[in-house]
Amino acid sequence: MRVAVFAGDGIGSEVTAEAVRVLEALDLLKLELVYGDVGGVAYRKHGHPLPAETLEIARSCGAVLFGAVGDFSCDHLERHLRPEQAILGLRKELGLFANLRPATVFKGLEDLTTLRPEVAEKIDLLIVRELNGDVYFGEKGIRTLDDGRRQGWDMMSYAEDEVRRIAHTGFKAAMGRRRKLCSVDKANVLETSQLWRDVVIEVAKEYPEVELSHMYVDNAAMQLVKNPGQFDVIVTGNLFGDILSDQASMCVGSIGLLASASLAEGTFGLYEPIHGSAPDIAGKGLANPMATILSAAMLLRHSYGLEVQAARIEAAVGRALADGIRGGDLGGQAGTKEIGDAVLARL
Ligand code: ATP
Ligand code: MG
Repeated sequence: MRVAVFAGDGIGSEVTAEAVRVLEALDLLKLELVYGDVGGVAYRKHGHPLPAETLEIARSCGAVLFGAVGDFSCDHLERHLRPEQAILGLRKELGLFANLRPATVFKGLEDLTTLRPEVAEKIDLLIVRELNGDVYFGEKGIRTLDDGRRQGWDMMSYAEDEVRRIAHTGFKAAMGRRRKLCSVDKANVLETSQLWRDVVIEVAKEYPEVELSHMYVDNAAMQLVKNPGQFDVIVTGNLFGDILSDQASMCVGSIGLLASASLAEGTFGLYEPIHGSAPDIAGKGLANPMATILSAAMLLRHSYGLEVQAARIEAAVGRALADGIRGGDLGGQAGTKEIGDAVLARL
């Protein structure tokens, strides 16, 4: 198994180093790690945040473990040369159309969430968000009407094959979990959502074991805070998913614990923590690597089907937290390396 490691900027190199240690400790068959430059680091070395050789590396691998990109010293550059373009470029070039974000409350951290502990402790959900379509990529513009008023517009659209593809991702994810899928839309007012719902219902026939439900997005936002324990997998479009996944992640607490996957058709995926390059703590050995370690677990699960090893990593992180190992983001003292050691010791 050939895995690309793109550490990127700021704390990216510190947190990916710990995730790599965890992967190497698992004795995976023929694990080969290939390193590449992205972000500000890549701009300074190659003059571009996503150099051709980095893209080449990604294409030659089965998955990418990604750190973070972001670098203030690049703020003056034209947009296409800024570090953030690396991740947008990778999404586009690698056909990453599904974003998966698990939200789980680990034992012992219930009091750190924004919800009441007895509500928070029940959260164990996964949001599957479509990444390539919707209102972000439709026709758009600002025009001046005959009466002189300016008008902005962004066209929301989904083609049925785009919905079918993400629906399959949602159903497959549900099959590997508690077999419940909630499709979130706004079918009472949006035509796009009506089509979305029709297609999801059609795809559901191929997954008779999965219990499908539908929810309007406004209600979903409310239910995520009121009774999040009811959800297993949520599948939704780009715009609704953008909002709901940030909402769900903050319900479970710290930025240093949240992993994500961006999947292409087939088994290829890019895995990264949801946090950024955290320039305020970069280079100090203070960053919590757990989000990246948990991203590595997602990599094993989704790109290589290594469910047992993925679950082992997740259990080790859970046990480290239960034993009181806390990074600065959780109000604790443990540094990056120490947290890595603690997870390794429990693997
Ligand atoms: P970017 O633009 O790269 O997304 P950002 O400013 O949005 O960066 P983050 O880099 O995600 O935000 O950091 C937000 C805050 O959370 C910072 O104060 C940072 O130090 C803290 N933080 C982020 N990741 C971690 C981590 N792994 N461990 C500890 N603290 C973290
Ligand atoms: Mg950010």
